[in-house]
Amino acid sequence: MPRGRLFVVAGPSGAGKGTLIEELLRRYPTAWLSISATTRKPRRGESDGVQYFFLDEETFRARARAGEFLEWAEVHGSLYGTPRDSVKEHLEKGEDVILEIDVQGARQVREKVPDAVGIFVMPPSIEELERRLRGRGTESDCEIARRLRNAREESKASGEYRYVVVNDDLRRARKEICAIYEDESPL
Ligand code: ADP
Ligand code: 5GP
Repeated sequence: MPRGRLFVVAGPSGAGKGTLIEELLRRYPTAWLSISATTRKPRRGESDGVQYFFLDEETFRARARAGEFLEWAEVHGSLYGTPRDSVKEHLEKGEDVILEIDVQGARQVREKVPDAVGIFVMPPSIEELERRLRGRGTESDCEIARRLRNAREESKASGEYRYVVVNDDLRRARKEICAIYEDESPL
């Protein structure tokens, strides 16, 4: 059984990572999206074990110390990490694993898994990013301001990725991420 491939999708909050990954999951039954652990509070509609495993900080840090995360980082004031065992299990089953993580986590994965496929999702502009974050309606004004500040810093890391997908026209960006997936997937 061939091993699956590891895809790392990063980019500023609101750039459209989740939207593009949804398309991959819909089109390719062999793609699996890893469920991260986080200390952030669940948003309305989120439940434990579905979008994230919601942990208190003490439990998160104990698991980090025990080496249970493939990578972890502090992002927008909360801790986020990728559970190592589930990623390994899915890759061994021959499934392709997708990590939707921040740029610090992506660097850690690149160190440990050099053949992971890095995809950076870039918004067309900061103004459009702000419109999308406001339109999504999941963060407060203060939280949106923090994410926009971080976006400028994160965007500087785009050169570290094998692929950059500019998510302006959604139809085009969806086609582009699917083409990358098909080119890179051994299946
Ligand atoms: P991320 O996962 O990177 O935080 P999302 O996928 O949640 O971003 O997208 C942020 C918001 O922007 C969502 O409301 C989504 O529907 C919208 N969106 C995503 N891509 C586009 C696009 N190409 N054009 C316009 N709106 C978009
Ligand atoms: P949100 O709180 O909007 O769901 O996610 C905020 C940020 O945390 C996003 O940039 C997302 O990619 C990042 N993130 C989510 N899960 C992980 C993870 O497991 N590790 C790291 N390093 N970042 C993550």
